[in-house]
Amino acid sequence: MLEIRDLHIAYGGIQAVKGISLDVPKGQIVTLIGANGAGKSSTLRAISGLCKNRRGTIAWNGKDITGLDPVGIVKAGIVMSPEGRRIFPHLTVLENLHLGAYSRSDKDGIARDLAWVLELFPRLSERRNQKGGTLSGGEQQMLAVGRALMSEPDLVMLDEPSLGLAPLLVREVFDIIRTINAKGMTVLLVEQNAYAALKVAHYAYVLETGVVTLQGTGEELIADERVRAAYLGG
Ligand code: ATP
Repeated sequence: MLEIRDLHIAYGGIQAVKGISLDVPKGQIVTLIGANGAGKSSTLRAISGLCKNRRGTIAWNGKDITGLDPVGIVKAGIVMSPEGRRIFPHLTVLENLHLGAYSRSDKDGIARDLAWVLELFPRLSERRNQKGGTLSGGEQQMLAVGRALMSEPDLVMLDEPSLGLAPLLVREVFDIIRTINAKGMTVLLVEQNAYAALKVAHYAYVLETGVVTLQGTGEELIADERVRAAYLGG
């Protein structure tokens, strides 16, 4: 269980996140939705240990992890697949995936997870020896998610995994989110595609200019008039 309490994040004089609290229970899919600039990516970055300009507490399975650096966070079992296809363009698909397992030394486990990720993403499997930079945008996004899974996380945080994908691939990505959750991974999902995210989520938070304005189960929020008007196109 991830527990965030009173998280504040500031950039210079600008408060991007203003005291949010959220819970991500073990085994669940929790989603953060909200307009551009609401503070969703900043929140994921703070959990990852990438944001030093923050206040508040972040606890993971009862332990305070607020002060850990990014490597410590990955070792604790939390990994983020960042927005915007941050893969290594000059390395092959397989090399990119192996890098995701850099903090592990269990060779058999790594081989097993590599086979699993390639099964999860047949497109990556077909292109395993292709350089990352020559993959299509959607394929690079899948590679970023696959690489995150290679660290064998307990909690995987996905920042806009469906961004810019064709409708068929969007469906595939949400199916994959369900599959990795069924395998036991906890998922914290940031999405612009609010309807699909709420459909898949056990619980959801709406973030507006750095504040949680609404929360509830995915079903509750899909039925909420305010959510329908602002995020689901009425
Ligand atoms: P989007 O959906 O557009 O990615 P978001 O909800 O993920 O938005 P953040 O990326 O967390 O929002 O940004 C929150 C606010 O903080 C924005 O106003 C953004 O301009 C600002 N911000 C984010 N990173 C920085 C930075 N490194 N320096 C200054 N301001 C920043």
